[in-house]
Formats: sequence, C-alpha cells, structure tokens
Amino acid sequence: MNHDGLLKILKRSFGYQSFRPLQKEIIEDSLAGKDVFALLPTGGGKSLCFQLPALTRRGLTIVVSPLIALMKDQVDGLVASGIAATFLNSTLDANESRARYRGLYRGEFKLLYIAPERLMLPSFLERLPELNVEAIAIDEVHCISEWGHDFRPEYRQLADLRTALPGVPFLALTATATERVREDIVRLLALENPRRYTASFNRPNLTYRIVPKHKPGEQVVEIVRSRADETGIVYCQSRKATEQLAIKLQAAGIAAGAYHAGLEPEQRERNQDRFLRDDVRVICATIAFGMGVHKSNVRYVVHYDLPKNIEGYYQETGRAGRDGLPSECILLYSSADAIKQRTFIDEKPDPEEQRIAREQLQQMIHYAESSDCRRQTLLGYFAEPFDSIPCGGCDNCLEPRERFDGTLAAQKFLSCIYRLRQASRFSVGLNHIIEVLTGADTEKIRRWGHDKLSTYGIGKEHSRTEWQSIGRELIRLGFCSQTAERMSTLELTTDGQVWMKSRQTLTLTRPVSTVTKPVRKKLEGEIVCDEALFEYLRTVRRQIADSRNVPSYIIFPDVTLRHLAARQPANESEFGEIPGVGERKLKDFSEPFLDAISQWKASKKRT
Ligand code: ADP
Ligand code: ZN
Repeated sequence: MNHDGLLKILKRSFGYQSFRPLQKEIIEDSLAGKDVFALLPTGGGKSLCFQLPALTRRGLTIVVSPLIALMKDQVDGLVASGIAATFLNSTLDANESRARYRGLYRGEFKLLYIAPERLMLPSFLERLPELNVEAIAIDEVHCISEWGHDFRPEYRQLADLRTALPGVPFLALTATATERVREDIVRLLALENPRRYTASFNRPNLTYRIVPKHKPGEQVVEIVRSRADETGIVYCQSRKATEQLAIKLQAAGIAAGAYHAGLEPEQRERNQDRFLRDDVRVICATIAFGMGVHKSNVRYVVHYDLPKNIEGYYQETGRAGRDGLPSECILLYSSADAIKQRTFIDEKPDPEEQRIAREQLQQMIHYAESSDCRRQTLLGYFAEPFDSIPCGGCDNCLEPRERFDGTLAAQKFLSCIYRLRQASRFSVGLNHIIEVLTGADTEKIRRWGHDKLSTYGIGKEHSRTEWQSIGRELIRLGFCSQTAERMSTLELTTDGQVWMKSRQTLTLTRPVSTVTKPVRKKLEGEIVCDEALFEYLRTVRRQIADSRNVPSYIIFPDVTLRHLAARQPANESEFGEIPGVGERKLKDFSEPFLDAISQWKASKKRT
C-alpha cells in the first residue's frame, strides 16, 4: 500500500492527519513482511504501528500484551473507532470465550489481544494455523529481558512461534532503551535481520523539575491542589507511603487512591480502574503501577522519593502527557533520601549488584543535583545528544540558578580535604569536612584534633546547607570524589589538585528554589482554547463514557477536546476535520458534542 493509502486509513479509522516520527517507516516495513524492532518512547504512538497495518491485512494480527487487566480498555478503544478487535483472557466466562473463538475462526476480527501464557498453551498453539495469522505484534517486549524492569518469564517462549507460524513477521515494540535489553530482545525472540527503529527519546511536552523535599506530604497536597481538575500519579517507594499519602490527600478533600503490589488483586484493579475512569484524580503508587496503562491525559507525575536509577525515572515520568499536551514531572529531592538509598544498597548481599546499584544511584543523584539542563542529562543517559539549550522545559533552563564566584569557597573546601588527609591519614565524609570548615565543636573533632587544623573554622561565612551544595558541586565537577562504600568519604582528585595550584576562578551555582506551582508559560504541545468550554466538553465526554462503561479517554483524548474547544465546529464536516475524529467517532459522537458546542455559544451570546 502506498503512502496516500496509509494516510487515508489513518484519517478514516483513527482521525489523524499525519504520522508521528517513524510510524510510517515501521508500518511500511511491517507490511512488507519484515521483522521490525521499534523503540519509541511512551506516547510515541506504538499501538498505531500494529493497529493500522492490521486493518489492511486480510487475516489476523495477534497482539501479545502482558497485562490482562488492561486489555479490555485497549480493545474498547479500538471498537469505539469501529475496528474489529477482541481479546482472550481469564476474565471472560466460558460462553464468552467460546463465542470469541468462533469469531476468530470465522475471520471476524482484525486484531486479537492475548497474554503470552495463553497464546503459548499447547491447546491454543495447535489450532493457531487455522486462524490465518498474518502478523504478531509483541508489545512491552522488554518484558523478555531480565535486565529490564518488568521481567516476565512467559515472554521467553514466544520464540517458539517461529516454528508454530513460519514466515509470519514479528513486530517487537518497547519504550525501554538500554542496550542490554535491546540485545536480549533480538536474541531471545530470534528476530530475523530485524529493521531497527529508534525514535528520539526526547519528550518535548514534558517539563522536568526538582523541588527540595522538606515536608513532602504537604508539598504533594500543594502540588495536587494547585493543579485542580488535572490528573496525576505520585510515585512512592514504599507501599505504606502510597496508602498514607492517599489518605492525606483524601483528608484534604482530593479524590485519591493507592496502588501497590501488596493490595488484594481485586482492590488493586478497582483502584486502577477508578483512576483510569477519572473517579480519582490522583493515584499514589509504587513503581508496580504504570506499564500498559494507556491513560493519555496524565498531566503530572510526582516522585515522592528518589528513584533508584535514571532508566526507571524516565519510564515513570514518561507516563505523563502521552497525548502530547504539556505535562509536568516533579521530583522531590533531599540528600537524606540519597543517604537512605545508599543504606538500602549496603544491605544487598551481592557485591556486584551493590556496585551496579551504587553507580546507578550516583547518576540519579547527579541528575537531581546538577544545574545543567535536565533534559540534556536524561537524554545523555540514553546516549542521545541534545543541544537546544535552554530547552524551555526544565527548571534549570526556565529559572537558571544564580551563579556566584566560588573560587574562595572551593579553595577552602578542597584544602580542608587535603589538610584532613595529611593530619589523620584517613579520609572523612562530607559532613565532617563541613563541621571542620564551620568550626563545629564536636567530640570527634576534639578527639581527632581537627580543631588544631589551619582550615578549622575558616568557612563560617557559609551555612552548612550552602557548604553541602558547594561540596556536591565540587564532586560533580570532578575536583574531589566520593567513595561508593557505606560511609562514603571524600578524596581530592588529580583534577582538584591541578585546579588548586592553577588558582583559576570558579563559578558555582546557588541551591534550587522551592516552587511547586505549575509553570505558567507557553509550552510545547499547548493548544490554546476556551478553558471553560473544554471543561464543559469534559463533562459531556464523561456522560458518554459512563453510559458505555468505558474510560473517558476511549471516547476522545483530551487533545481532541481541546481542538474542539478551540475551533468550535458548527457542523459535521467541520467536526470531521478535528484530530482524533475518525469516521466511526464522527458518526457516533458528533451529535452530542456539536449540540454542546452550539448551546455553549448560544449561552455566551446571551450573557
Ligand atoms: P505508546 O504506546 O507509544 O506509549 P500510544 O500508542 O498509547 O503510545 O499513543 C499515545 C497517544 O498518541 C494516543 O492517544 C494515540 O491515539 C496518539 N497517537 C498515536 N499516533 C498518532 C498520530 N499519528 N497522530 C496523532 N496522535 C497519535
Ligand atoms: Zn533544560
């Protein structure tokens, strides 16, 4: 099929005018019968890469998906667009399953969603050749790798499909970008000379922000309050914290729920569902939450605790703004959290595991403390160059931190490390150095005679917090290094020694501010519209969604509502031009929305 043909289907079935980056290439290769491996960030539009080709095929496309609880929503979304899709899983009763099997044998469906353990059942495999399968799409394909964050042993068996269905092309999709996981995928799935596509991992509509954590519970309440009517996820490290925080938010009059792997399955699913259906606005969750959740209007993701590594942080923040509208990622950070994380790592039994975990944590701390562009740092982790600085979407670019001449401070700090080392033949940690600099009178200082050092009390012009930030910046600059052991100590590096001798001036940055208010500026992806009309259309959408018993975003994503509220179409043909309105949705939903818009306009005229 040529490009125009694909574009026609894109508009007719999905209501979109153009492809997102790489979608077209992936679709064309896949239709040419090639194995394809597609690495697109969350919100990159992976689903379309297998849904659209499925519509042009005569036979069936099987979609392997890890999460049973979320299949129904995905299929409901397709059905709402008039696409013949179904799923098979343990939530269906025997009659319903039988009916669906019959439909499959009769070729009534274009897409079948199924979990790997069910697909690979010998009884299912046996009859697979009768289903006229033309393509296999494997979603969340990183689940195949132990190095990913969601390992599912069942995914390993999928390679057997190569013999069960010879010649049927695979389309493997994930948002997980680490090299190790990529290699595992190609090898374990036995992909044949796959075409690899990697989109940029930059998410231009996301704003990244670090907020110093002091009273985290209250800070979260404030963040949620100041984003009234918006939906968000708050990630916490512990199960208990998710529940406590949800209660705290509820006490503040905010509809919030908790989600973690320790809840009873029914409870967990209920809480997830209430979030997907906008019955609760905020979900306080552990990292068990999020994979496969296609809710597109998550406007903010807050990290209540310091994530263990950048990869996880990137994936979790990525759940904001799938629809491309401006969304925020806020990390509450304190150095006490960093210390707490180090202690967890110390408890790991395996030294190699400890080493990797420390390294990853160090990168995360660097991200949180650095005054460089957050986007550049994140993308750098995935080896993706990013130079358009200021990026316009991170705290460090939006409100560059004040810089000051730190030459003297750095001289004092580094020579203090040097003197301490000289005097005691052992190294000490950051806190001890600061105590010496600020002339603290502690038992340790007296016992070790550190009050006799020439650097004792020479740094009283800065507070302890200021020294901490200075110290950490010097570590980042490579003038001193922090050991990775339990009681981490500081050492002067060669670079540090060279700099001290050179007497060059050095500029340092002031610590971060504590703003938690939403960023009010024109953001990437913003669709300016009448906000009140948008809110009204949301209630209209909600009524339709409730009557069909599906989440709102299945009717229309927020983007479509914003376009509607901006352009205010007056008839069906104008309505059909709106992004996200395909043929089926035009037929089913234009009337209630057109009515709502014309009523709105009429009432505006009257007032
Ligand atoms: P992913 O699985 O990669 O995270 P999704 O498939 O959930 O992304 O798509 C994210 C959002 O983008 C969905 O709301 C989807 O409808 C929308 N989308 C996908 N492709 C396009 C496109 N070509 N134009 C506009 N919106 C798109
Ligand atoms: Zn930036």
